[in-house]
This record gives sequence, C-alpha cells and structure tokens, in this order.
Amino acid sequence: AGMADRQPVPWRRIATEEAFLIPEVHDALRSWAAGADPDEPDQDFWGFVLTQDLPGLQRVRRQLLDTDDERLAIMDEHGVSVHLLSLTAPGVQTFGDAQAVELAALVNDRLAAIIARHPDRFAGLAAIAPQVPHAAAAEIERAMKTLRLNGVVINSHTRNEYLDEEKFWPIFEAAQALRVPIYIHPRSPSAQMAAPYRKYGLETGMYGFQAETGLHAIRLICSGVFDRFPDLKIVLGHLGEGIPFWLYRVDYMHPVRSSRNSRPKLQLTPGEYFKRNFAITTSGMNWHPALRFCIEAVGADNIMFAIDYPYQLTVGAVQFMDSAPIPDQDKHKIFHLNAERIFGIPAGAGIAAGTGTRPATG
Ligand code: MN
Repeated sequence: AGMADRQPVPWRRIATEEAFLIPEVHDALRSWAAGADPDEPDQDFWGFVLTQDLPGLQRVRRQLLDTDDERLAIMDEHGVSVHLLSLTAPGVQTFGDAQAVELAALVNDRLAAIIARHPDRFAGLAAIAPQVPHAAAAEIERAMKTLRLNGVVINSHTRNEYLDEEKFWPIFEAAQALRVPIYIHPRSPSAQMAAPYRKYGLETGMYGFQAETGLHAIRLICSGVFDRFPDLKIVLGHLGEGIPFWLYRVDYMHPVRSSRNSRPKLQLTPGEYFKRNFAITTSGMNWHPALRFCIEAVGADNIMFAIDYPYQLTVGAVQFMDSAPIPDQDKHKIFHLNAERIFGIPAGAGIAAGTGTRPATG
C-alpha cells in the first residue's frame, strides 16, 4: 500500500519483548538441542523450533536472524517505531560456563552494532550467563556503561535454579546499582516441575511457560530479595504471567504459616512488592478483558506494549492495543511512555506520534 492510503499513527509504538538471534548462538542452540540431557526439559522443544522444516518455523528462524530488512519492513507496515530486542529464549543459559560467558558478550556486541545501524528503531536487552554470577554482573556493567543497552534479559531458570538463590545476588547488586531493569522471559518449566507438563505437551506457551515464570516471580517476592534490593525492577511478559490475577489470594495466604513453611518475614505484602518492583508487558496476551483487569489491578504506569515478534504476529498485537477500550492517556503510557521511562529509551526517536504511517484499514 502506498502513502496515499495511510493515515497518521496516533501514538508512538515501542514493542518490548522482541526476539532476535545471531548465527553463532543459533548454531550453538542447535548443537545443544540435539542432545538428551534430562536436566534440560526444553531441549526437544528448541530442537523442534530450530530444525523442523515447517513453513511457520522456517519463517520464525529467518525473522529471528534478521534485523535489517524484513523486520523493519513489518515494523513500518504496522507503524511500530521501536523493537526492544532480546536474544531469544533460552538465551545462553543452557550452555557450559565458558561458552555461555563468551556468547553473551558476543551477542551484546552484535546487539550494540544493530542499534548503531538503526538507532531510532532498536533498543536492546543484554544477554547474560547467570550460571557465572560474577561474570554476569560484570557483563551487565559493560552492557550498560560501554554498550549503552537498555536492560537485561534472563530466561527464567538457569540449569533449574532460580534467581532468589543467594549465589545469583551479584546480578541483582549490579542491576540495582546501575538501575537496570531485568526482563524475566519464559522458558519451559525446570526439570523438577516438568514431568506433569509432558503428557499433553503443556510445557510451552499454552501453559508451562507462564507457570514456570510466575513461580519464578513468586519465589523472588517470597525470598525477601526486594527488601535486600528495594530498587530492583523486574519486568514480566504475558501481562504478568498470571500473577496480577492471584495477588489478592497471595496477599491473603502469605501470612498463613505452618511448621513446614519457612517463608522469611517481609517488610511489605507480596502485592506491594509487585506494584513497586515489577512492570508487565502485553506480549502474547492480546485480550482486552485481561488488559483492563491488569490496569485496574497494577496500574497503567506498570504496563508496556509487546508483540513477541517473530513468535506472534505484529498485526494482531497492534490492532489489539489500538482498539483497546481504555483512555488514550493509558494507551500512550502502555504504547511508549512507560518503556521510555523504564528502559531509558529516548523519547521521540523513531516514528513520532502523528508522523508515522499505518494501514488506513487498521
Ligand atoms: Mn517472548
């Protein structure tokens, strides 16, 4: 469609959970996925995604590896100003220590170069290797200070361990000191919880991803890490991985203790931490009732737009948010203002409000 049948974009659109891949990690993930490690339950899922010759998966792989051509054309077609890029799950978290540290740095160097080529179209979350916490903390510092990236992505558990464990706290220390948000992106449930998800193939986006990542968030809250790191900001996709819906019950039940319950005492209620220390995105949840509930439960200041490119279609996410039955003021917050604030994305870069294009039929 030409310019003549397009109309101005009423708001800048920043999409905040947009996956990419570099060839070196693609090859390393394929090698890893060819194994059969019982401690890595999502090996077979990623083996499927990265090797099967189905047209949809060929498209996903092509679009993951592209940041210059088709991706920008799709963003332009649908009036998306910025992709906040993150290395696709499971990141480097399944690799051996040395390989993971090396590949994380390579990904971040490459990401900085992608952003330098298209500074008004891309921002980026740093990949890190949580399995080597001090190296991960150093990489956060390099990614923020030298590469000027916008945050960190961690794909839920790392070798079946969760970030509330004290060994990972150097990561939180670095993130809090540098005021870096950490996006906890889903992957399949850890080995301990994976078995019952197997029978009907429930490990992935239908249910397992959100069960795993919601558990991770609840563990962080109940561990007390937000008393230790009160300025830490965690971002969750999929409208908060179910947590907003359960906040009343979590708050109600949290003080109920038993002899087998060793939860630490906390300064705030779980719901208060969720509103203070978390933000959520709309990735893969193009559903108005859930969006309206989340605005009421956690506030429009804590919600950001996301597509989950290339796993979900841009057109559906844009139409969902354009047509959301919410005030324009909230739409501006969710489409761009909150991402500009939380991820330090410069305001006004890219397709500014009122100057871009979208299909007239949109
Ligand atoms: Mn995603």
